[in-house]
Amino acid sequence: MASESITSVLKEKRQFKPKKEFAASAHIKSMAEYQRLYKKAEKDPEKFWGDLSKELHWFKPWKKVLQWKLPYAKWFVGGKTNVSYNCLDRHLDTPRKNKAAIIWESESGETRTYTYQQLHREVCRFANVLKGLGIVQGDRVTVYLPMIPELAITLLACARIGATHSVVFAGFSASALRDRINDAGAKLVVTADGGYRKGEVVLLKEKVDEALKEAPSAQKVVVVQRASTPVSMQMERDVWWHDLMKGVSGQCPAAPIDSEHPLFTLYTSGTTGKPKGIVHSTAGYLLGAMITARWIFDLKETDTYWCTADIGWVTGHSYILYGILANGVTTVMYEGAPTYPQPDRLWEIVAKHKVNVFYTAPTAIRALIKLGKEWPEKHDLSSLRLLGTVGEPINPEAWIWYHEVIGKKQCPIVDTWWQTETGAIMITPLPGAIPSKPGSATLPFPGISADVVDRSGKSVPANVGGYLVIKKPWPSMLRGIWGDPERYEKQYWLDIPGAYFTGDGARRDRDGYFWVMGRVDDVINVAGHRLGTMEIESALVSHPVVAEAAVVGRPDDIKGTGIAAFVTLKMGNTPDDGLKETLKKHVGTVIGAIARPDEIRFAEALPKTRSGKIMRRLLRDIAAGVETVGDTTTLEDLSVLARLRQDDES
Ligand code: ATP
Ligand code: MG
Repeated sequence: MASESITSVLKEKRQFKPKKEFAASAHIKSMAEYQRLYKKAEKDPEKFWGDLSKELHWFKPWKKVLQWKLPYAKWFVGGKTNVSYNCLDRHLDTPRKNKAAIIWESESGETRTYTYQQLHREVCRFANVLKGLGIVQGDRVTVYLPMIPELAITLLACARIGATHSVVFAGFSASALRDRINDAGAKLVVTADGGYRKGEVVLLKEKVDEALKEAPSAQKVVVVQRASTPVSMQMERDVWWHDLMKGVSGQCPAAPIDSEHPLFTLYTSGTTGKPKGIVHSTAGYLLGAMITARWIFDLKETDTYWCTADIGWVTGHSYILYGILANGVTTVMYEGAPTYPQPDRLWEIVAKHKVNVFYTAPTAIRALIKLGKEWPEKHDLSSLRLLGTVGEPINPEAWIWYHEVIGKKQCPIVDTWWQTETGAIMITPLPGAIPSKPGSATLPFPGISADVVDRSGKSVPANVGGYLVIKKPWPSMLRGIWGDPERYEKQYWLDIPGAYFTGDGARRDRDGYFWVMGRVDDVINVAGHRLGTMEIESALVSHPVVAEAAVVGRPDDIKGTGIAAFVTLKMGNTPDDGLKETLKKHVGTVIGAIARPDEIRFAEALPKTRSGKIMRRLLRDIAAGVETVGDTTTLEDLSVLARLRQDDES
């Protein structure tokens, strides 16, 4: 890691204040209220989190809020609670009993709804099944399921008995699955015969069979029948979900679970390298997910909330399931691809279920921008009252498109910065309180001591880029990397003394707003200036023909490093040399000559992780004309790389 600061060149000035009517009924109603909360938490974090934790149901109250021995935190020490109880049982003697907990929408348009009561029953039944299979507290269960209700039921059932779940995204290959089962030492795998993706059946059970050839810890496989495609069931080992559930009792008391017991492990998206098995706790994690969901999405009893992420990612854990159900709100879960069968699939679902709060990723927004606004315009989106984004920095022009075309200028946007490691959102607007600026995740959530520092851990001045760190422990923070304490310490705690280092670069403006500039590993060093990727990419995206852009450094004989930009155009635009020049000039005009790309390459698609994040390290190799040696297992579509290399030769 280099020690210099990062030069900032982005000049975004627009600001959007919360509307009066929205603020009036919001959980956090004004900047003054936010600041009061923030100060209170800053002054006495243990009291702040301790008070909030009283809302959870405790089988046994905790004795101490925090035990902190850098870099290991224990929260709510001595307490016993249960995540499944807090998400389900707690609501059953309230009017929420027969309220929809999950509205599930299949790719083909079929709907299944579970009330809190019904979901509770199914979770209890499957928890009893797990017990029957010999799963006990502390066992690991690998979950390799498509986005179907059984996925939610499985996780909540694991939580109910204290089994640690490890979800592996169902788009991953057999070898990726095998490595993750082995890493966790999972005793059981829950899967399906197949899952639907763009109208095709993905053969999941087949991949499990392949993976288990070299994953001896997994003694049993539960198979959900989803696609009714033929599978081979191995005697003794493989059992059908529906057979196991027959006649099983819908009563299963939630086990009192220690606050610090690992609720789950989950691998990061793998944008920068080999994915890490992040460990999350029980009580601290749930508290973080619940409070952030309520204040940031401003959840109301009447809301229908929809997050388009897959439960294979942390966003799905915290903000499809745990954080939302803990608030007793209705969560929509969608099985399929966002643009199948047509580019308006998301908007069709918003209109069908009258979604009020909608949370998605910049990658989806940019894909929709590319396809044109006629698709959202076909649908009645007037139920929407709040929009959110997560996963990557959102380019200001994409933010504006989201605001105008989807939100009709009526919905606040929460640009939420966080990571698998943080468990919950860390830097974000509170929609009734904090004015937003397109491209900025704005301010830290109360109780989160975020800062931008130099290598020695000293805060850098306003508008100087540096390292994004968190200076105090927080309840939903990771508790480690599964089975690898050394990597945990090295990855997060050794670079900057005394602080958790996020791996991201950022700057704060004069209002204290955070602007994430991209990953520190992706910083481009041009003629003595260190430039973040986000600002140059945003300058490119601000040109009307550009849908998406990724920039990387590449060796340059004269300058040492030059800037190469990979650009995807909106539909109906022709890539030619004239346009290349126009775009280079555009960047020069918008942010200055220093950031002017030396080379523009048009690309049909960019290499992305399966969670939709651009993998710049692969583009670096292509720009430099060298073979890729790094890990590509988390890449969504290998052919994208091949195509980019082909363009290189032509
Ligand atoms: P790996 O750590 O294996 O490289 P990953 O970092 O992509 O994978 P995640 O935990 O899913 O895995 O992603 C967290 C990262 O995503 C953040 O560190 C940041 O780089 C980026 N990110 C998420 N939300 C935002 C946001 N709102 N603004 C800017 N960047 C964001
Ligand atoms: Mg990361």
